[in-house]
Amino acid sequence: MRLFFALWPDDAVRAELARWSRELHALCGGRATHPENLHVTLAFLGSVEEAHVAEVERAAGGVAMQAASLVLDRPGYWKHNRIAWAGPSLVPPELAALVSGLRGALAKSRIAFDTKPFVSHVTLLRDGREPRAIPELAPIEWRLAGFALVQSVTLPRGSRYEVRRSWSA
Ligand code: ATP
Ligand code: MG
Repeated sequence: MRLFFALWPDDAVRAELARWSRELHALCGGRATHPENLHVTLAFLGSVEEAHVAEVERAAGGVAMQAASLVLDRPGYWKHNRIAWAGPSLVPPELAALVSGLRGALAKSRIAFDTKPFVSHVTLLRDGREPRAIPELAPIEWRLAGFALVQSVTLPRGSRYEVRRSWSA
């Protein structure tokens, strides 16, 4: 199964992200992320055998997390992959610590993951064209109270993400 760790929004934050996604979609076109799939990827494991999932969960269970506030105040667009996203001007130190703690725990348990540096963002749409100007959008305040292990399920209409398990700060 395909797995990744993520920050998973509550319904209020999800609704605000979906609003940003609609605003950017009006400018960029492309494929908007389904609101129920919106997230921040912390570590991407990719394919994991069923028999190894318990080890993944054990590693995550040992990670210390402190609650934090993530303010998404920056809509943006990356030309290289045609993605429009929501990001923070400042990554809270608690989030940076969570990512390094989590990735460190995975490495220590010899669980493979993509080691590309963490870039804090929510993908709002894919295959969009570059907007003439990035709109101003009301900042989204996200109280980070935990993180989740998410399974990516491939369906004919695209991927659907399901939280398998979550851990609280
Ligand atoms: P699909 O690959 O089916 O088109 P998807 O990219 O939305 O759909 P996944 O590939 O399962 O779904 O990715 C889940 C999440 O992990 C997404 O946020 C995606 O951007 C991120 N991700 C995917 N591959 C990697 C990777 N190699 N390194 C880091 N993050 C990744
Ligand atoms: Mg993918």
